[in-house]
Amino acid sequence: EIEEKVAVIGSGSWGTALARLAAQNAMEKPGFDETVNFWVREREIPGKGKLTDIINETHENARYLPQMILPENLVAVPSLVECVKGATLIIFCVPHQFLPPVMKELKKPGVLTKGARAISAIKGIEVDLKSIDIYTYPAIIEKELGLPCSALGGANIALEVANEEFCETTIGCPSPKDASLWHAVFDTQMFRVHPVEDVAGVSLSGALKNIIAMAAGFVDGMGMGGNTKAAILRIGLLEMSSFTLEFFPSASPQTFSHHSAGVADLITTSFGGRNRKCAEAFIKTGKTFPELEDELLNGQKLQGTITAQEIYEFLKGRGRLEGYPLFTKVYQISFESLDPQELFSDL
Ligand code: NAD
Ligand code: 13P
Repeated sequence: EIEEKVAVIGSGSWGTALARLAAQNAMEKPGFDETVNFWVREREIPGKGKLTDIINETHENARYLPQMILPENLVAVPSLVECVKGATLIIFCVPHQFLPPVMKELKKPGVLTKGARAISAIKGIEVDLKSIDIYTYPAIIEKELGLPCSALGGANIALEVANEEFCETTIGCPSPKDASLWHAVFDTQMFRVHPVEDVAGVSLSGALKNIIAMAAGFVDGMGMGGNTKAAILRIGLLEMSSFTLEFFPSASPQTFSHHSAGVADLITTSFGGRNRKCAEAFIKTGKTFPELEDELLNGQKLQGTITAQEIYEFLKGRGRLEGYPLFTKVYQISFESLDPQELFSDL
């Protein structure tokens, strides 16, 4: 008997890789509607036609996950409303700056299915500069859309996941029933899913590690070696977990020390991620981050620069900058022309 229908909101590199896993599992496991919709922002590709038509005909998302064949039961849909029609399990995976218009559309009456649940694979946070408050995306999705929302995060460079290289991920979900459903949606032999109860920790870790990955990129850009990078990752991991426990006291320190969403994601992003890559180039070329994002990422989006700004403003507003010297230095090097060598002072 079919009980669950999955929809994916987002079709960048990670959105597409996750959608691919969900579609494979929906096809192979009982209890799922075979068709998985994923929302693709429609674009006209000169001389070729509409992007959604191209994806549905070629079963490839050539811009964001090239040469990766997508299952035929994964259907690109240009309308958000159509994409989530009848969906009981909704995966959110858009770069965080693009979520507000998506939420606005989904909030309209009759769009969401009663009893639906959500999971956020977004690595970012939201800061309200007026009230100096900070929110995770699962909390925002729960509040704004009334969907119980879990978090997914781990050491998961999209292309490596799509290549089916072995890796792990962490799902933060307080309900054992929902955790086993999300496990069924994503888990494969080569993509191992470990559920924990800590939604805030999984979500915060995914956002904050992007700032530390930028520091790792600065280290690479300055030509320093593994000792320095390891020191930055160790100090960075402590800042990540201290920050989370200070402002989200219900989170668990183990999420950072024991799980893929914590230490493992920090490592992979700091060696193979986009934030590291652009931060290294920032030091070597002197170009700005928006220039480097355009030049180096082929339409993919940098999250660490925005998060570094948001966290800096939040900590400044709360009078807590001195507690987080690495977060602070990454912001100042990126946006206030601080000498990159200053990364190491007072650590
Ligand atoms: P991406 O950076 O690969 O692609 C950018 C996406 O943004 C595309 O889908 C594009 O269509 C969309 N976009 C561009 N302009 C837009 C606009 N104005 N409105 C709406 N959408 C717009 O995306 P991604 O890597 O899938 O990122 C989604 C989330 O996944 C992020 O929070 C990211 O940190 C996280 N994440 C990424 C990876 C990875 O390896 N790529 C791994 C884990 C988590
Ligand atoms: P980047 O956005 O730095 O590429 O990190 C991807 C990621 O989150 C890997 O888990």
